[in-house]
Amino acid sequence: MKYYVLFGPPGAGKGTQAGAMVERYKLCHISTGELLRSEIAAGTELGAKAKALIDAGNLVPDEVVEGMIEAKFNSVKNVEGFLLDGFPRTLAQADALKDMLSRRGESVTACISLMIPDALVHERIANRAKLEGRADDARDEVVSNRVKTYHEKTEPLIAYYKAAGLYREIDGVGTIEEVRNRIFEAMEK
Ligand code: AMP
Repeated sequence: MKYYVLFGPPGAGKGTQAGAMVERYKLCHISTGELLRSEIAAGTELGAKAKALIDAGNLVPDEVVEGMIEAKFNSVKNVEGFLLDGFPRTLAQADALKDMLSRRGESVTACISLMIPDALVHERIANRAKLEGRADDARDEVVSNRVKTYHEKTEPLIAYYKAAGLYREIDGVGTIEEVRNRIFEAMEK
């Protein structure tokens, strides 16, 4: 099985590129952000707890997302691997993922990192706010907090996956097709 981590700041294009990646490599796409938004939409207790954190641009607790990921690993069958989009987002989550996979005799195949400058993050999210209507995209101070959270809590994963020899960085600036071709090239290396 392949286990790809799709990494990058908010607005880097992870969700946009995930569709083509899962289709080409027969992967199951797991977006922790999407799973959390479905919990909110379904009005679950978990969703209610997550909503305030998400709406403020903060991370939900590690155990919550780790549980969601493990449940998917246990239930999804007939795929050639998984594409983890927006997970891990902290070093603790990366360690939890490593342990979860090692218990299954598996490991992360590669961390595919989409990089864009902070200035472009705000521009891309402002455009997405008009198209998708996500509450956490609508307010500039929330977007700024998500970027700050990314730099503080998530960026250390770059060194983590580099040290493991798994880090593949892709320039996320360009057309959707240009970026997609760069991703495919990195996945085939
Ligand atoms: P995303 O759709 O990946 O941009 O995620 C939207 C929001 O969901 C984030 O700003 C966080 O509040 C929450 N979230 C998603 N994935 C995680 C994660 N791996 N750890 C903690 N919080 C997460």
